[in-house]
Amino acid sequence: MNVDLEKCLGCGSCVPYCPMRALSIVEDQLSINHDECVECNICYRANVCPTEALLITELTWPRIVRNVFSDPLMSHDTTGVPGRGTEEMKTNDVTNRFVEGHLGIAIEMGRPGTGTRFYDVEKVAQAVAKFGVKFEVLNPVTSLMTDTVTGKIKEDVLNEKVLSAIIEFDIEEEKGPQVLQAIKEVSSQIETVFSLDVCAKVPSDNSLPSEKAAYTSGITPSINGKTNVGLGRV
Ligand code: SF4
Ligand code: SF4
Repeated sequence: MNVDLEKCLGCGSCVPYCPMRALSIVEDQLSINHDECVECNICYRANVCPTEALLITELTWPRIVRNVFSDPLMSHDTTGVPGRGTEEMKTNDVTNRFVEGHLGIAIEMGRPGTGTRFYDVEKVAQAVAKFGVKFEVLNPVTSLMTDTVTGKIKEDVLNEKVLSAIIEFDIEEEKGPQVLQAIKEVSSQIETVFSLDVCAKVPSDNSLPSEKAAYTSGITPSINGKTNVGLGRV
């Protein structure tokens, strides 16, 4: 995001809309912290500027990555994969992406409201990659990996900051507790927050493999978890 300082009145109307707190008023004019700005365009789309002083500028690689991960209205020409993650977990009831005996795990980095840099995404991806996880191919984070075996992410995007990014993968059920334990351990080495989703097909004995994996690894699932039945593509 940029600002035309000749037009800016320093009214501050746009400041509260920035989820990254990258906007402030300095000496009666808008100041943008470009290192913190994730190019989500929320300040612009709020349409509160009385003088149209906010400017969306053309972004190039690697900064464009901020925009495609943070603005839901943008297409992913650079990653080739739209959205922040796939719909495979929500639609597993009909897509069967995660079969019986496997767990689907999603790590929503930067959520809620904190943002994340890709060096932290890489730390978490590398921590789980050691267990032979299968990263989701149709996922924009996977598309930024130079090596899906180790979870290594392209060097030139590591310092880029985005509103959120979702690491998604499939793992055999018996490895679930170890993987969840590894996620717990790496959480103390990163500068952001994340939400953790674990998905599993309910087997014929009506047990809950995802819940079992969580409790075995010392994680208490949130009581406001949701169950998707019959949701999916046709
Ligand atoms: S584009 Fe987004 S992150 Fe950047 S200043 Fe505007 S609201 Fe903040
Ligand atoms: S709303 Fe417009 S005029 Fe007011 S501080 Fe923001 S950019 Fe400047």
